[in-house]
Amino acid sequence: MDAEEYKVRGKEMVDYIAAYLTGLRDRPVIPSVRPGYLRPLLPPGPAQQGEPWERIFEDVERLIMPGASNPASTELQIVMTDWLVNMLSLPDTFRHDHPDGCGGGVIQSSVSESTMLALLAARTRALTQLRGDVSQDIGNDALLNSRLVGYTSDQAHSSVLKASLVSLVRLRSLPTDLEFSLCGETLRRAVEEDRAQGLVPFFVCATLGTTGVCAFDNMAELGPICRQEGLWLHVDAAYAGTAFLCPELRDPLRGVEFADSFVVNMGKWMMVNQDCAVFWVADKRSLQSTFCVEPHYLQHEHSGSVIDFMHWQIPLTVRFRSLKLWFVIRSFGLDGLQDHVRRTNKLARYFESLVREDPHFEIPAKSNLGLVVFRLQGPNELTKTLLRRLNESQQLFVAPAMAGEKFIIRFVITSQFTTEADVLRDWRLVSQAATDLLQGSAAKDDTSGMETCIVGGREEETTLDHQSQVKGV
Ligand code: PLP
Repeated sequence: MDAEEYKVRGKEMVDYIAAYLTGLRDRPVIPSVRPGYLRPLLPPGPAQQGEPWERIFEDVERLIMPGASNPASTELQIVMTDWLVNMLSLPDTFRHDHPDGCGGGVIQSSVSESTMLALLAARTRALTQLRGDVSQDIGNDALLNSRLVGYTSDQAHSSVLKASLVSLVRLRSLPTDLEFSLCGETLRRAVEEDRAQGLVPFFVCATLGTTGVCAFDNMAELGPICRQEGLWLHVDAAYAGTAFLCPELRDPLRGVEFADSFVVNMGKWMMVNQDCAVFWVADKRSLQSTFCVEPHYLQHEHSGSVIDFMHWQIPLTVRFRSLKLWFVIRSFGLDGLQDHVRRTNKLARYFESLVREDPHFEIPAKSNLGLVVFRLQGPNELTKTLLRRLNESQQLFVAPAMAGEKFIIRFVITSQFTTEADVLRDWRLVSQAATDLLQGSAAKDDTSGMETCIVGGREEETTLDHQSQVKGV
């Protein structure tokens, strides 16, 4: 939707809300629909082509309003998360309507919260198994908890560490290979070492599309080990998950059939407003036994026979995040969403080609999807200064990361509005800032003799001023 249409549609929406408020007393207080009313009214999956807003908006009154905020919100969430399983080519066991009835998706605010849910569910599963294992000298839950150990890679997002801090379980950060990917052998060795120490391995968080360089952990290797060792495999595909809309980009999904849970943040790349992370589990029972509390005031006539997301998450109230997901999926259609992914990837490759043409720069890690990581040749201080100057210019925003020992700048394209001209403009800003920096440094070098390090020197020798706040990713 462009700005002009947005103006028109926004006004229509305000009128709709005003009419709703005016007619509020004429609407039923409690919806008259039966559980499961919505699915038969919706198609089994998204349309190939995008639909005009009029048609989508008509369906709000026709399909959603009769179900009021609930059950409509729960039911749309169920259908949207099922649609997305197929759209992203995830295992069918993640669908609510899978015949074994164990799995399903739930929409959370963020990947960070979802990863915490996964870790807590994995902990419940591990503690339940330990309590049932007569060969173990078990002790109480606190003691058991202290024996648990989870794994992730040294490239994982800090939210995995946060989840382990909240749940007081040990987390090991395992080294990645030259492509920044966690492989099976590393995990196997860590599990063996920990078992020998009397610890209980229980959880692995693999990343598909790491924050730093968009690397992919090797799920085809990790998956079978997790299955064999009884470890819960959680997959953080926060950003890169959207790429799996395109069949040609699904290679990193090999091994996904071993995943116990999987999460994608639809606000990162799928053009959904922030606050929409879709989190799937293959078996909801551990999640439900983690969160199920049923005080009298929350029981209702369908308790136990319908999906109650309050038993899948921390909040009681189900937010209507599925609505914006439905709007976006219908507005673009599958073709439009795939085009978006392909177009932004192509723009990233264009940026990458511009960087590669300039000998002052290097690309220290393989560029994947819409992300290009680059740095100035030479000590890290140079790239840090460049990053600070670029962001201070307020004409573009780039974020830092580390690729091994190398400080890198991340350039990522996710917006439907970015054009080739924008990318070229950004590159010119980067290139000009680099030229200014290198010339300024060379001039200083002439006068002070202190900065012989600037091209190819050692980092410790530089005197370049840098105040940039280099935060963890
Ligand atoms: N995981 C990865 C791989 C990320 O790149 C990010 C954010 O950049 C996150 C998790 C955190 O996502 P959220 O903001 O949804 O918690």
